[in-house]
Amino acid sequence: MAMPLGLYLSVPFCRTKCSYCNFASDVFSRAVFHRYVDRVCADIENAAGITEQMGGRFERAVDSIYLGGGTPTVLDSPELERLFVTISQNLEVRPGCEITVECAPGTLAPDILETLLHCGVNRVSLGVQSFVDAEAASVGRLHQRTTVLDDIAHLRAAGITNINLDLIAGLPHQTAESWEASLSEAIASGTPHASVYMLEVDEDSRLGRELIAGGTRYHAHFVPDEELTADLYESACQRLDAAGVCQYEISNFARAGYESRHNLKYWIRQPYLGFGLDAHSMLPALDPGVEAVRFSTPDALEEYVAGGPLRCTAVTPQAALEESFFLGLRLTRGVDLDALRAKFGALDGFDSLIAEFASMGLMVREHDLVRLTSRGRLLSNEVFERFISVL
Ligand code: SF4
Repeated sequence: MAMPLGLYLSVPFCRTKCSYCNFASDVFSRAVFHRYVDRVCADIENAAGITEQMGGRFERAVDSIYLGGGTPTVLDSPELERLFVTISQNLEVRPGCEITVECAPGTLAPDILETLLHCGVNRVSLGVQSFVDAEAASVGRLHQRTTVLDDIAHLRAAGITNINLDLIAGLPHQTAESWEASLSEAIASGTPHASVYMLEVDEDSRLGRELIAGGTRYHAHFVPDEELTADLYESACQRLDAAGVCQYEISNFARAGYESRHNLKYWIRQPYLGFGLDAHSMLPALDPGVEAVRFSTPDALEEYVAGGPLRCTAVTPQAALEESFFLGLRLTRGVDLDALRAKFGALDGFDSLIAEFASMGLMVREHDLVRLTSRGRLLSNEVFERFISVL
């Protein structure tokens, strides 16, 4: 039986651009929003055609929807409503579908919250990053600690209790004590899901570029060093676990039963379809010699709105094996080698490398189940690189 899809909609608009942000999102005038929503809706209406053109198998049933960005709640109520109506008119939204919307704290005006409820939204992800006001302000966030607590209260009063809080370890001015304060607030809030990321330093954000250049703009000289950032991440894993918000993926933590259905699809390679700027899709391939197809939309706004071409990659069985292994290792429960063998055949070279990483304390193997240790999760990129060289 065909598996229901996860649907991703990107809304790449924000009220301000955070200094650490390396996403394809930015501040645009409201005039752009309307043209953008038109384009996304046209693509959703043509989902079957686009899928077929990319060589993927189309499936109408959907059991998770994720509106991410950017800040989807900067759209106005009619625009948000239009997106959801277009989805329900063109796809089959299954009962019990997980419907998540990312929100910047302070953007949940009463009419927006009402619209979200009306559209069936049952999960909200709040981009908190830090409960310490000076840290949030230093990276350009517009909210304060009390804004987040008010949003959580309003969501609960409206009946949305499935709430995620995003936190970042490694923000300017962060210390072990201030991080502890953020973690304590997140735990005390009683929200059932948290995502914890380490600050990414790359050329795609203003802060990243300044750090690479060794400058002092954007509070770059107050960014904790790599070692402290790693310690902060590890302390988050321990504190959240101890509070019953258990780690189930490198960056994700949940109380039992609150793991994100949508995000799990990425790691266990279930099909998903993305719409909007820089949106990615993965679907079973029509061609029996290919395992899956991955395709993505343009990452420049004008090119996307003008209907620019999609990029498409065929996933061979060998590439699918690699993806299954690496994505599966992101999960705390790990990877079942027996299941991989059953699907892909012999796993040459795995045993000796797994034994090597186990002796270094980075992996644990119990019969055919392999998973990263907490240290292995911290060094996951290094581990993955070594495996790529033998695969
Ligand atoms: S709100 Fe999110 S997407 Fe927007 S600029 Fe900040 S980090 Fe980036």
